[in-house]
Amino acid sequence: MKTIEDLDVAGKRVFVRADLNVPLSDGRITDDGRIRAVAPTITKLLQAGAKVIVASHLGRPKGEPDPQFSLAPVALRLGEILGTSVSFATDTVGESAKATVAALADGEVTLLENLRFNAGETAKDDAERGAFADQLAALADAYVGDGFGAVHRKHASVYDLPARLPHAVGDLIATEVAVLKRLTEEVERPYVVVLGGSKVSDKVGVIDNLLGKADRILIGGGMAYTFLAALGHEVGISLLQKDQIPTVLEYLERAKANGVEFVLPVDVSVSASFPDTKTHKPVEDFEVVDADKIPADKEGLDIGPRTRELFASKLADAATVFWNGPVGVFEHPTFAEGTKAVAAALLESNAFTVVGGGDSAAAVRILGFDETKFGHISTGGGASLEYLEGKTLPGLAALEG
Ligand code: ADP
Ligand code: MG
Repeated sequence: MKTIEDLDVAGKRVFVRADLNVPLSDGRITDDGRIRAVAPTITKLLQAGAKVIVASHLGRPKGEPDPQFSLAPVALRLGEILGTSVSFATDTVGESAKATVAALADGEVTLLENLRFNAGETAKDDAERGAFADQLAALADAYVGDGFGAVHRKHASVYDLPARLPHAVGDLIATEVAVLKRLTEEVERPYVVVLGGSKVSDKVGVIDNLLGKADRILIGGGMAYTFLAALGHEVGISLLQKDQIPTVLEYLERAKANGVEFVLPVDVSVSASFPDTKTHKPVEDFEVVDADKIPADKEGLDIGPRTRELFASKLADAATVFWNGPVGVFEHPTFAEGTKAVAAALLESNAFTVVGGGDSAAAVRILGFDETKFGHISTGGGASLEYLEGKTLPGLAALEG
């Protein structure tokens, strides 16, 4: 892949496909991690004398303008982070975009409105996507792909646009891919994977592929209960995906055959109802039970103290760790202990530690850990999972050509 240094950018209009899909609450950005992550690429291009056009999606608007998904607040925050003013186009390829881009001097930057305000961005139809990509291409002289969180999407700005312009990979994607190689091709062992989150079905593909690569797989979070149920245990009213039980059993078998150690919770924290993650109302009926003795009317919401220790011991000697998915409902303090313990164990180990997944990255920050102490915190949950599943990511393939 060509890098920014291989592109001729001085005096050129350079289109940067970023992932500025940040969480918003009442129009306020609650976590600006993704904006900060792409800022160095933009700064590098500005210093090289480019006219930089930044573009991204935000949320899931339905192919037409929808004010709640406007990138306007992001333009302001991007300007603060870059330390320069960022002009904002109120459309993607219309009059405003054309005018703002035309007004750019060398070393100046503009942000286009949400790419998904145009149906062509996400269209399944190649011609429809291609037509939108043509319009985007007309705005620029070169393309830098740096929206790692969107790189698994076959979207116009990710997949079709780079084919139409001289292109290069941005520094953020280059770093993410180098990290993913250390989790797939050049792995230092022991390699321990911690998986949590709510749904097994989100992570089956990744488990499938990691069974041939990891030495240990630790399962926590909501997905653990499908494993416990597969082993014949009562899981009460915990999250359970019955349809995944055959798959899970097959994984447990294959793990045994491949010499991969599967580590499941031995105790769990339960309650009769899902905790209030907004008000943090105290959980009156909180209790810890053995993982094979979950009462029929209780829901497992976190790993228990013995499992925290077990997981920590399984992480202590690791040389490489990939962690995706909180191991409990960390959004409520009563059920954040397991996720805290995993984060602490990662920091404690001498391993190269990678945290993937939007909620996992947010958990690390919200629970007060210093994110710079981890080996890498990925900006793209879905993208890194698909890479680890062994899939070809359209946005990476497009940058290779
Ligand atoms: P990521 O975004 O890091 O990939 P996921 O989206 O897969 O993670 O899962 C995150 C969610 O999983 C969190 O909101 C957390 O509350 C939830 N979760 C974790 N453990 C449980 C559990 N035992 N029951 C229900 N939800 C859970
Ligand atoms: Mg998530």
